[in-house]
Amino acid sequence: LATQVRNANTYKAKLALLIVDIDRFYKINQSVGYEAGDEILKKFSLLLKNALRKQDYVARIGDNRFAIILPGIMNTGHAELAAHKILRLLQVPFVLADSQITIDCTIAISLCPVHASHYLSLLKECESVLHRAKEEKIKIGISTLPEEDVLSDDWDIELALDGILDRDELVVYYQPKVSIITGRVVGAEALLRWIHPAKGFIPPNYFIPIAERMGHIKQITNWIVNTVLRQAGEWSDKWGGLTVSVNVPPDLILLPDFTNQIDNAINLWGSEHIKLCLEIVERSFVIEPERSFRILKDLQNKGLDISIDDFGTGYSSLSYFESLPVNELKIDQSFISKITHSASSQNIVKLIVDLAHAFDMHVVAEGVEHVAELDYLKSIGCDVVQGYYFAKPMPQLEMKEWLDQYKNVN
Ligand code: C2E
Ligand code: CA
Repeated sequence: LATQVRNANTYKAKLALLIVDIDRFYKINQSVGYEAGDEILKKFSLLLKNALRKQDYVARIGDNRFAIILPGIMNTGHAELAAHKILRLLQVPFVLADSQITIDCTIAISLCPVHASHYLSLLKECESVLHRAKEEKIKIGISTLPEEDVLSDDWDIELALDGILDRDELVVYYQPKVSIITGRVVGAEALLRWIHPAKGFIPPNYFIPIAERMGHIKQITNWIVNTVLRQAGEWSDKWGGLTVSVNVPPDLILLPDFTNQIDNAINLWGSEHIKLCLEIVERSFVIEPERSFRILKDLQNKGLDISIDDFGTGYSSLSYFESLPVNELKIDQSFISKITHSASSQNIVKLIVDLAHAFDMHVVAEGVEHVAELDYLKSIGCDVVQGYYFAKPMPQLEMKEWLDQYKNVN
């Protein structure tokens, strides 16, 4: 699920998660015995596989519970069709050696990134939908978060995105980055929020790809860079300098006036104790590596930091590692969330840290939520952490207060 959700996020696609729960399975076990119960589960799992497309996945996630992933699903209606198909197939009884049995199930549906963009929150959301559906005795439960009134119709969002910068609906939130070694705050990542007057909060994973497609992202990024430099200029300088990071979509760095726009913003708002860092994803290099490297090197020479975002999920190739004009690697949170229970994730993370250090880059771990993750990252020499463990993204005023109150953790 983690990989599928990551792919959906990376390729700006949607996927549906279905949880299928067999009703009163303990009763079936009681009436036909455990062995026959097991056989029913096998037949049930086969039925699910047959009901689905080639690209879909089924996994058993509990005694009588299965998770289904449907990649490339556009809206809840499509996922509902799959759920109905399963219910229809279940109307035919299962034939056992000496009996026949009909089983019922409840199905919950949630979409990524519409209802949640992280696999754990998607799973949690889907579980709670299942719980509600069971309580209300509904066969198919569907997440009702923003989708129903906001996100189901793209035209609405596209219309609303038009001229968005002329209205005051975009807000920049900041999430602190903390040095593991010194315990000091070293900076913050700027994360965009769209608060629509009627529809409420619209997740960035949802609207940024649409803004990219519609060609608005250049102006939006320019607005973010200016806003971030202006706001960060108001932060306390007691930390002796902070870095503020902005996410830059892949195609932007190759635009002829990109460097100029950054220069203009720095000339206008730059302050001595604030450094600007650009977070770019690995695929930004793929199309024209040499030209991208030249542009990034030029920005570095002007005093900016360059960071590779979501490292480990893209096209990293050791062959160009040496020539990367990069100061920072951010390890994707899909690895961090697994380090306390997966030896292979631990190894990957340690490898990335060592690799980055060998090339004089520092490493940021994203999505750190638990002290155990922090302890492991500390033990392998990771430099900086960012995640709910320290703080969630927050608006400018809260960020200022947070910085004023923050005491070194070491
Ligand atoms: P990203 O750059 O990988 O940003 C990190 C995301 O992880 C943020 O989600 C952040 O709120 C979330 N996060 C941070 N710590 C934790 C944690 O401990 N646990 C969990 N579960 N999540 C954590 P957010 O703000 O929803 O942003 C999602 C994505 O949208 C970003 O991923 C980035 O790709 C994009 N995005 C956000 N703001 C901007 C922007 O200003 N410009 C562009 N181009 N993209 C942006
Ligand atoms: Ca980022």
